Amino acid sequence: MSTRTVARVADCTVFPGLCTQTGPHTAHSQHVTASATGAPTSYGFETVCGGSPLLYIDNGHSADFSADEAATVVAQLRATADAIEAMAAKLTAVEQA
Ligand SMILES: [Zn+2]
Repeated sequence: MSTRTVARVADCTVFPGLCTQTGPHTAHSQHVTASATGAPTSYGFETVCGGSPLLYIDNGHSADFSADEAATVVAQLRATADAIEAMAAKLTAVEQA
C-alpha cells in the first residue's frame, strides 16, 4: 500500500501549497522522501538563486522485490510519477500566474 506525499506544506506566498520552507526564505523547495512514499524514488523541487524551480528525482535507493511484489512496487512508482507530474503542473501554474 502506498502512502502519498506527507511533506508539510507551509504558508509560503511564492509557491503556496507547494513550498515546505518556513519563515522568511528565498530558496523554495519541497522534498518527498522515498521512505515517506513507500516507493524507491524520492522527488521534489528547488529554486536556485531565485530562478525557476527545478524538479528532481533520486533513484539512489535499493529496491529488491519478488515477482509477487512487482505489482505493488509498480503501483508505487506510478503514483510517484503522477505526483511528480502534478507538482510540475502546479509549479508551472504558479510561474505563469
Ligand atoms: Zn517558499
